Amino acid sequence: MQHSQRLFERALAVIPGGVNSPVRAFGAVGGQPPFIAEAHGARLRDVDGTDYIDYVCSWGAVILGHAAPTVVQAVQAAAARGLSFGAPTGAEVELAETLCRLVPGMEQVRLVNSGTEATMSAIRLARAATGRKLLLKFAGCYHGHADSLLVNAGSGALTFGVPSSPGVPAELAALTLTAPYNDLAAVEALFADRGAEIAAVIVEPVAGNMGCVLPQPGFLEGLRRVCDRHGALLIFDEVMTGFRVALGGAQARFGVTADLVTLGKVIGGGLPVGAYGGRADLMGQMAPAGPVYQAGTLSGNPLATAAGLATLALVQEPGFHERLEATAAALTAGLQAAADAAGVPFSTVHVGGMFGFFLRGAPPRDLAEAQQADVARFGRLFRALLGEGLNFAPSAFEAGFVTAAHDAATIEATIERARRAFATA
Ligand SMILES: *Cc1c(COP(=O)(O)O)cnc(C)c1O
Repeated sequence: MQHSQRLFERALAVIPGGVNSPVRAFGAVGGQPPFIAEAHGARLRDVDGTDYIDYVCSWGAVILGHAAPTVVQAVQAAAARGLSFGAPTGAEVELAETLCRLVPGMEQVRLVNSGTEATMSAIRLARAATGRKLLLKFAGCYHGHADSLLVNAGSGALTFGVPSSPGVPAELAALTLTAPYNDLAAVEALFADRGAEIAAVIVEPVAGNMGCVLPQPGFLEGLRRVCDRHGALLIFDEVMTGFRVALGGAQARFGVTADLVTLGKVIGGGLPVGAYGGRADLMGQMAPAGPVYQAGTLSGNPLATAAGLATLALVQEPGFHERLEATAAALTAGLQAAADAAGVPFSTVHVGGMFGFFLRGAPPRDLAEAQQADVARFGRLFRALLGEGLNFAPSAFEAGFVTAAHDAATIEATIERARRAFATA
């Protein structure tokens, strides 16, 4: 940890908390983050030469594994042709066509640079299209760090006990209603009260920012019905679930079609890309086709677009998601067996290539249950796993991710190491 330690000390002097995104700082689990030198396939190597099997995987973005050769080659080839033009390119059209072909209900799409931009833009459009002000989100769901969405947000905000943030005006936060995840009755009650003012419901169709929390049967269908009844739009934030829980994302997996969908992570294959899209009558209201403004100097950037296209080319291969899901199933079953052998109360969930594990007998259904997590014990377990060369998310409130590069031998090695970690934690 010598070199990481020195880098972290330097970082603390010039970067707030030493990191460029809060959860990376290990504040929730204790200790200091390894600084990464390089990563290939399922493995990370830090600046001190220590190797880790990685289950963060750039928070799910690198679904093919780190430095996937076809993605790296596509980016190198694109870079040689120019880094950014600020003018349209054929690759952007190709990526937009690919998204519209594969994502249910996506008739038109706009590329942006992050998931945060995608959700921020989608809610602007929803408010413009409905002429209404209110948003409804779910406690523990994270939709990026735009002001209106940083209310009862999960993940980093949760980890650090800041359910919303200073700097978000109370007047603005008051426009965001929140309900418990999986609680359709609470949604119906809010709509009964203020339905005519609600522009949109935004939801993670599988929640991945309070741990991995599955939608209960009927929850997503119920949201669709309530939105239709009250003339509100349904926004699926698939920044995490898109191309990860199924080729068509959560919409395809659960058979519910939203009005607008936001994407990120996987569609950039490790470079900064986000997207929002959906019904053509809605997307047609975006400038310059319509009056709702949204723009971006680097949107549709050639390198990011090339990485996204190269990633999606392989993600579309037959059996890709079946293999990914089998990997996640083998991993979670092995972790469960390791926990059982050590007598640790434990449960897991997995869906497609994402998973969660919990130091409790049953997986949580909402934020309140997720917050019952024994965070001190999680911290001990996390440090023991890291000590065995296993890199899981440094928070009890994050999902984990497998990639196409996590083969059977990798999972086997993980389980063997996890047995040792559980025995000590
Ligand atoms: C990661 C994430 C975001 C934010 O994306 P950024 O690219 O980090 O801005 C939004 N929504 C969900 C569901 C996410 O998982």
